[in-house]
Amino acid sequence: MVKSGTASKRFILALDQGTTSSRAILFDHDSNLACVSQRELRQIYPRSGWVEHDPEEIWQSQLLTAREVLDQAGVSAKEIAAIGITNQRETSIVWERTTGRPIHNAIVWQCRRTADFCDELKEEGFDRKILRKTGLVTDAYFSGTKVRWLLDHIPEARARARDGDLLFGTVDSWLIYRLTGGSVHATDFSNASRTLLFNIHRKRWDQEILDRFEIPKIMLPKVLPSSGVFGEASPEWLGTAIPIAGNAGDQQAALYGQACFDVGMVKNTYGTGCFLLLNTGERAVSSRNGLLTTIGWGIRPSDRRKSPGREAASGGSDDPAEVITYALEGSVFIAGAAIQWLRDGLKIIEQASQSETLATSVKDSGGVYFVPAFVGLGAPYWDMQARGTLIGITRGTERAHIVRAALESMAFQTRDVAEAMQRDAGTRMRELRVDGGAVVNNFLCQFQADILGVPVLRPSITETTALGAAYLAGLAVGFWKDQKEISSHWRLGRKFEPHLRPVVREAAYAEWKRAVERSLRWKT
Ligand code: ADP
Repeated sequence: MVKSGTASKRFILALDQGTTSSRAILFDHDSNLACVSQRELRQIYPRSGWVEHDPEEIWQSQLLTAREVLDQAGVSAKEIAAIGITNQRETSIVWERTTGRPIHNAIVWQCRRTADFCDELKEEGFDRKILRKTGLVTDAYFSGTKVRWLLDHIPEARARARDGDLLFGTVDSWLIYRLTGGSVHATDFSNASRTLLFNIHRKRWDQEILDRFEIPKIMLPKVLPSSGVFGEASPEWLGTAIPIAGNAGDQQAALYGQACFDVGMVKNTYGTGCFLLLNTGERAVSSRNGLLTTIGWGIRPSDRRKSPGREAASGGSDDPAEVITYALEGSVFIAGAAIQWLRDGLKIIEQASQSETLATSVKDSGGVYFVPAFVGLGAPYWDMQARGTLIGITRGTERAHIVRAALESMAFQTRDVAEAMQRDAGTRMRELRVDGGAVVNNFLCQFQADILGVPVLRPSITETTALGAAYLAGLAVGFWKDQKEISSHWRLGRKFEPHLRPVVREAAYAEWKRAVERSLRWKT
């Protein structure tokens, strides 16, 4: 028989529910990745600009990956100390309290269907209030307006929500609800901070915003610490009851997984776009440069070793003992997607990895700059009329120069956001921890270090999102002792030191800014 003590608990199971796939990953005590299972998720586009997911498919695909990863690794569920959840953020689901049946598909973060309501809020000046209270800009991207849309468009939904028959949740809440057999309706501070409904300073749902959106408070999940036991996954799913003990939105989980625990630490994730997050500690820094103020995580240190289920019964968000770590967040819309465009649109490379060989086959970009403003530019420019620009082309320009300029654009855009962050926070970045699909590219990492003038650190495990969820869960159940121990597990894969002379670096950056200037306000 398997012992019930912690010695027999060899793994943490991370559930990483992303936009395009659900993944389950096992991490061992030394933070090594033991096994991964992944399933694609169907994207539903009912109309132009609308994006949905089937909530049942989200749940089923996530459950299947969890079962598969245990099977593949030959690990019994009894060996799992806890489950940690990380998720695509902002995606919104409303379901029936008694049956658990969703009343509609999930409205995905990318969906623009509520853009008109956001414009209305801006015309009223309500967006300023939202910014002050939630740290977010008023945009269809966040959950609140999506929930309102569901209550407006599904017959009887608002009345049923008022009666307490309907529940709202982001994807983490949905998974927790299903995993616990419908007994826990909860989310964590990081996910709550992306709803547009949560006052990040007072750490509670904001009644004034709820009133304006006509969303009954009774349908909202309880907000619990990101590291703490939310409830137990029912034995019917994996064969034994397992505590769900960690939860954070994907970008915040990556910040945690990179062990960016101290004020001033920054990580950048290079995927389709780039997400740069700076830990600002217990201070919520408001941005003057178009960045978002968000909650990194909320942890109640004194709770780390208490028994499962206590938070589900506690008062949750109003507890003053919660320690909130805030973050500044800046996003770049197009990063790795520029490389996809070279491959699938322009067809000048066959696979993404070829970009590195080509970029290093020339000594520089030959004066070519590529501003990939395919859908406008995000922070710090916020120009939706900007469009992609390739400039500096001469008769001598070759394919390699263009490919190199595309890779360089990821680093230049990251510097743009980093500059804005440093201005907002009043600190200087000392190093940058990187992750995401594109950081396998050594040229990119080296050029990033060169153009920022600080070292770029690539960890040996770049699955930092799932790792962050695992850490939050492991910390709550005593699998890892404290953040100090976790920090000691962060292992450097490779360090890229800046080599460019400052004068050369600044000249290149100034040219990039000139190229950006040419791309702005293009579409009339
Ligand atoms: P997401 O989570 O946003 O789907 P991933 O983290 O999986 O993204 O990263 C995929 C992105 O990384 C793609 O946009 C791809 O073009 C880019 N990418 C993958 N490999 C490389 C490479 N060797 N060099 C540059 N970019 C790459």
